[in-house]
Amino acid sequence: MIDLHCHILPGIDDGAKDIEDSLAMARIAVADGITHILATPHYKNGRWTNEKDVINQQVEILQQELDSRAIPLTIFPGQEVRIVGELIEDIAENKIQFIDEGNQFLLIEFPTATIPAFTESLFFELQKAGITPIIVHPERNHAILTDPNELLSLIEKGALAQLTAGSYVGSFGKKIQKFSKQLIEADLVHFIASDAHNTTSRSFYMKEAYRQLEKEFSQKKAEKFKQVTKDIINGELIIPNTPKKIKQPKFLGLF
Ligand code: FE
Repeated sequence: MIDLHCHILPGIDDGAKDIEDSLAMARIAVADGITHILATPHYKNGRWTNEKDVINQQVEILQQELDSRAIPLTIFPGQEVRIVGELIEDIAENKIQFIDEGNQFLLIEFPTATIPAFTESLFFELQKAGITPIIVHPERNHAILTDPNELLSLIEKGALAQLTAGSYVGSFGKKIQKFSKQLIEADLVHFIASDAHNTTSRSFYMKEAYRQLEKEFSQKKAEKFKQVTKDIINGELIIPNTPKKIKQPKFLGLF
């Protein structure tokens, strides 16, 4: 399995604290059936910067540590980019690490509570430049939880979205778990990644999520998600299913 979103690099964000932590995460990932991980530290989320060069250096160091211990895991550089007004400039200044070699796919993180007003125009600019924004964990964004049409409108315009394995298996609670399932049903998310930060509260859950996906949906759906993951990392064209509206009960909570 490939994991496209993971905070496994040591000491540069709220993921692994040190190299021992990174190695512990790597061992759990391997046990979970993961063979390749994109290390995606936070970029400009208010606490950390983590420009492209730093990430690439750290990936090289971690890979050497893994190889010297014969841990069968390959790490690629990635980045979880907080949506910022100056993103186009940051790309031009080579601060941004795409998640494919052809520089076509970017992981984009919204603030927890909102979708910034400039999102639509920024996505338009990115797409005009041949870049597909991938919205990470939409199931945990409060604006989207309140009104899933906010997500629908971005997906209809060509953005992709990544569901977090832990959300789908219930590690963020029942509400987010239920919403995750609805997002899959409505074709509003296109693949699963771990967004693992550690080996305890924010672990991988990838095998469990895929097992659940096969059970609740189908093997075909699981295969499709895996294929999209591969296609993204290979920089292939993604042709997603047409997204649908999530039907919400009209009088929910009124009486
Ligand atoms: Fe993340």
